[in-house]
Amino acid sequence: MYSIESGFTITPVRGSMRRTRIIATIGPASDSKEILGSLLRAGVDVCRLNYSHGAPADKSEIYQRIRGFEEELGHPTCILADLPGPKLRLGDFEGVIFLKQDSIVELHCGVAEMADVSPEKIPVAYPGLSAELQAGDPVLIADGLIRLMVKSTPDCAGGVVICEVEDGGPVSARKGINVPGTMVDLPAIGPRDEAALAHAIEAGADYVAVSYVRCAKDLHPAKEAIIAAGMHIPVIAKIEHPAALINLDEILDYADAVMVARGDLGVEIPLEEVPVVQQRIIDGALSRGMVVIVATQMLESMTYNPRPTRAEASDVSTAIRHGATAVMLSGETASGDYPLVAVETMARIAEATENGLAIQGINPSSLAKFKSTRAVAHAGVELAKIAKANRIIVATEHGNAPRLVSGYNPGIPITAVTNRIRAARRSHLLPGVDCVIVEEHERGSITMQNAIISLLNSGRVKVNEIIVVISGSPLAMGGPTSTVRLYKINANGEIIGAE
Ligand code: PEP
Repeated sequence: MYSIESGFTITPVRGSMRRTRIIATIGPASDSKEILGSLLRAGVDVCRLNYSHGAPADKSEIYQRIRGFEEELGHPTCILADLPGPKLRLGDFEGVIFLKQDSIVELHCGVAEMADVSPEKIPVAYPGLSAELQAGDPVLIADGLIRLMVKSTPDCAGGVVICEVEDGGPVSARKGINVPGTMVDLPAIGPRDEAALAHAIEAGADYVAVSYVRCAKDLHPAKEAIIAAGMHIPVIAKIEHPAALINLDEILDYADAVMVARGDLGVEIPLEEVPVVQQRIIDGALSRGMVVIVATQMLESMTYNPRPTRAEASDVSTAIRHGATAVMLSGETASGDYPLVAVETMARIAEATENGLAIQGINPSSLAKFKSTRAVAHAGVELAKIAKANRIIVATEHGNAPRLVSGYNPGIPITAVTNRIRAARRSHLLPGVDCVIVEEHERGSITMQNAIISLLNSGRVKVNEIIVVISGSPLAMGGPTSTVRLYKINANGEIIGAE
C-alpha cells in the first residue's frame, strides 16, 4: 500500500467498469431501504425521482435514504430530479376507472380534483384543453394505451369535451394525456414545476430534467433558477414533443445533456418514426460531446415478468451500440414486480454489448464554438491518444471538465478528481468516468499525487504507466481548466514528467 500525506481523505473509486450508465426510476416498488440498497449494489448509477408523482416534500426522505448508502457503498450516489413539465394530465381522483370500448366519456376540463369520478366522466386539470380540441381529434391517455375520439367540444376553456372510447382500459389519477400535434399553451415551467425545482435544488439533486421542452427558451427558467440559487446543476432536455424535433439543434446547443423520452415521443409522433428520431437525437448529442439517455419501455415486459423479451434485450443493446451513454428504467423499477432483476438484466446486456464494441462516437470539434475548458479537454484527449496513455485524470470543481473530456470518447479510462462530493456524484452519469475525492493542495501536482496513490491502492493504475492530467494551475480544481500534463508513474508510485 502507498500512503497519503496526513490530512488527506480519499474516497475509493467505485467498482463497476461498465461504461454505459444505468438510470433507475425510484417509486413505490423500489423506495424502501432494502430494495434501494439492492439496486445501488447491483449497479444503478443514477436514481431518477419523477416529480410528476406525489408532493415534492414526500421525496425528501428518499433523497436522504439514497445518500444514506454512500458510506456503505464507499462511493457517492447520483440523483436526477425529473420535473413534471407542461404535460397534460388527468386530475386527481380516488381509485382506478375502467373506460370501456365504444362507451362515451366526458372530459371535465379545468377540474383539478373530482370526488364523483366514474367511467362516464373524468377530470382534466388544464382548462384550455376544451378550447383547443375539435371534433375528430384523438386524445390519448397513459402513453397511448387508451385512445379517445372527440365527438363534440364546447369551443371554450373550462368546458366539457364529449369523447368516444376507441381503445379502452384502466385509468388512474394524473395519468398523462397526449393530443398529438397540439401546441399546448402552457408555460415550460408552471407552478408545479417551480415547486418541484425549488425542492430539487434544496434537496441537492445532481441533475434536473426538464420535460416537454419545445425550444431552447423552455430551458431558461430552470437554468436561471439554478444559477440564482448559486448551484451548478446540469440541465437535461427531455425530447418528447414534435416541436423539439424542429428546434433540436438550438436545444442541443443549450442543454447540458439530453434524454430521448420515448414514452411521450411515441404518442406525439408516429411510432414507426421513433427509432430514426432516436438516432438523430443520439447523433446530434454525440457530435456535441453530450450525455444522451435513451428512456422508456426498455425492458417493459419485466414490469411483470422476471425475463425480458428478446426484442427488449436487443433494444437496450442497439441503443448502446448506436451511441446512448445511458439507458433508463422507468416502470420496471418504479412500480414493477422485479426491480432488482430488471437492473441486473440491464447491466448484463450493457456489459455484453460493450465487450464486443469499440465505442467510436461522432467526435465533437473543440473549436467550433471556442470555449477554453472544451479546448483544453480536447488537447488532453488528443495527447492521451498520441502518448497511448493508460488513463486521463481530470481535476474538477463542479463536474464540467470530466463531462467535456468523456464527450470526446477517448476510449481511455477517465478519473475525475475533485474535492467536492457534488462533483463526484455528478460523475456517475458520465460514460467511462470514475471518481476520486481528494483534498485540494496549494499545488496541483501534490493534489494529483494523492489521487494517484488512491488509484494505485485500488489497482486502477500501475507503476510505469503513462497518464495525462488535465487540471487548473497552480490549484488543480480551484482555477479554470488550463493545463495538460504528461506523467509517468515511477517505481515509488510518484508522478514524474514522461519522456
Ligand atoms: C417519457 O415520456 O419517455 C419520459 C421519460 O417522461 P415521463 O416518464 O416523465 O412521462
